[in-house]
Amino acid sequence: MDTYMVITAEGGDTEEAVKSVSREISRLESVLSRTIDTSSVSRLNTEGSAVLDEDTSSLLAAALTYSADTNGAFDVTIAPLVELWGITSDDPRVPSQEEIDALLPLVGGEHVHMDDAVTLDTGCAVDLGGIAKGYASQQVADILRAHGVTSAVVSLGGNVYVCGGKPDGTPWNVGIQDPAGSGYAAMVSLTDRFAVTSGGYQRYFEAEDGTVYRHILDPRTGRPADSDLLSVTIISDDGTAADAYSTALYVMGEQEAVSFWRAHGGFELILITADGRLLYTPGLSDAITKPEDCAYDFQLLTAQPAA
Ligand code: ADP
Ligand code: MG
Repeated sequence: MDTYMVITAEGGDTEEAVKSVSREISRLESVLSRTIDTSSVSRLNTEGSAVLDEDTSSLLAAALTYSADTNGAFDVTIAPLVELWGITSDDPRVPSQEEIDALLPLVGGEHVHMDDAVTLDTGCAVDLGGIAKGYASQQVADILRAHGVTSAVVSLGGNVYVCGGKPDGTPWNVGIQDPAGSGYAAMVSLTDRFAVTSGGYQRYFEAEDGTVYRHILDPRTGRPADSDLLSVTIISDDGTAADAYSTALYVMGEQEAVSFWRAHGGFELILITADGRLLYTPGLSDAITKPEDCAYDFQLLTAQPAA
């Protein structure tokens, strides 16, 4: 999954649990990856129709509901544009507006038809990269619990899962990376939760003229999202939803992201804005702390818009 995974676990059969986790991640990557030729996703994308394995079809179905939920801000049919820009590939490039316009009509959940087999409209393709790590973390959580692990932290490229509390019973402290620096922008104490961060600060490429192009695309424009946010962290007990929403809310930008949280609920949110604010939801009031050297202006979000 083009990232590192770090697991710390205690209690239960940790050795077997960690082996089993490692096998599961490799297995999931081999079916879900868009860049592995033999994966289910590649088969679907090249053949246009395929009978999928259980993981890929259930994740694709979930992805379509997140698309509908987020009004298309999260959309796995963005794949043709991901391919066109190649931002995380070895040779990224800035395409012409004509090239973008030619592919935009292929974006949208209505081009995916799910039955016993999944069929894509001609030219359409899917990319589960915005949700696969969240799904994998969710599977890891189940494996750890099944092996009786009582205390663990799993970090899979921006997707953190904490199982139970620390071995001494107190909550884990999860650091929210400073997207503009090297330290932490906030610490959050958590038990049994997923914390997923998306942002433009880790995967991007810089064109010859110095313009930076980030890897999260806006499905409405087919271009890298022009977000007023530096990062979005979703804290939830659903790792898959947290991954989809963190990507979606980054695309939406501050105002729409806050409205989405107000209308939708069911998760906690930390937004770091380009103008130096850190916004967090009331459910985190007792859990969040500001590191001493942190320059962000911490602001509590309210469930209702200010009058
Ligand atoms: P990361 O992979 O850095 O953790 P995300 O979870 O935000 O970040 O996923 C970004 C990846 O998802 C991109 O590399 C691309 O493959 C895909 N993607 C880009 N834009 C979107 C989008 N608007 N909706 C769904 N997937 C997207
Ligand atoms: Mg994501």
